[in-house]
Amino acid sequence: MTIIEVDNIYRAFGRVQAVNGLSFKIDAGQIVGFIGANGAGKTTTMRLMVTLDVPDAGRIEICNLNTLDHPHEIRRLIGWMPDHFEAYPNMDVWEYLDFYGRAFGLHGAERTRRVDEVLAFTDMDVLAERPSNALSKGQTQRLCLARALLSDPQVLVLDEPAAGLDPKARIEFKNLVKLLAARGKTLFISSHILSELGEMCDHLLFIDNGRMVHHGTSESLRFHKSDGHLHVRLRCLDEAYRLEQWLAARPGITRRGEQADYIELVVEKAGDAPPEAQLAALLQELLAAGLRVYEFHRIERKLEDAFVEILGGQPS
Ligand code: ATP
Repeated sequence: MTIIEVDNIYRAFGRVQAVNGLSFKIDAGQIVGFIGANGAGKTTTMRLMVTLDVPDAGRIEICNLNTLDHPHEIRRLIGWMPDHFEAYPNMDVWEYLDFYGRAFGLHGAERTRRVDEVLAFTDMDVLAERPSNALSKGQTQRLCLARALLSDPQVLVLDEPAAGLDPKARIEFKNLVKLLAARGKTLFISSHILSELGEMCDHLLFIDNGRMVHHGTSESLRFHKSDGHLHVRLRCLDEAYRLEQWLAARPGITRRGEQADYIELVVEKAGDAPPEAQLAALLQELLAAGLRVYEFHRIERKLEDAFVEILGGQPS
């Protein structure tokens, strides 16, 4: 079921065409990484999605509601985490969330319950009495996420949430994202650093100069090399000669380069056969030929390489 639909949107600031005919659809429950270089148009697109700005042209629907016609309803359905926000010097963490709870229209016991829930979820309960502007970067990001979760939104739009986080805070953040996904939330997360999102997201959407350049699953980007081959790395026990013999009888499989401690095979993809089935058959064949294989795995394309390749194929 489509939960976010962006249809041919445009937004210019003076002569800068920040968003330039962008269209995409996101299904409920997906975790989508929104990737683009600095200035590619990510924040502008997200601000349009969360009704903080209006497109010059085009249409955006969240849960089948048009952002222009139903901004108030949409603000209840979306949790928004901006890339930059200021906490307040005279409010502790609990008061800060309570204040935003009021802004969301939550009342009495329900507001208290929601504040406590989001504090517990983001592991911020121990910091409830800490001044909201005296938190570390990771804690500040968790406070901002807690704020975005107050209305229990179905969709979360997070702008560069992992920027500036140390590795530990990033792992904690990733775990929160996974927990939210497990609760059925749809997450749309931007970054200009692909490795920040690669493991977290099941879909990746690349933009450049305000235009979509690629939209697909993370899996397809990692594995489906554009050259129509599967790449396998394996190790065998001292079987160089036997392997060469085996390869000689198989024109669709070549050995790539000369590596001292492992073997890389490049295998032509067989028609419509699923790659997994082809790889399983390959391993069976190697073992049947008596090769003592003790390591066998498919080589992933680095997401960064995919990104550069995709951008390289675009007219600038
Ligand atoms: P970053 O990764 O650096 O945050 P981004 O992909 O989020 O970048 P945007 O912030 O959407 O990019 O900006 C896209 C383009 O629009 C940039 O050239 C930016 O300078 C321009 N821009 C964005 N907002 C405004 C504004 N309010 N006034 C003028 N230009 C703007």
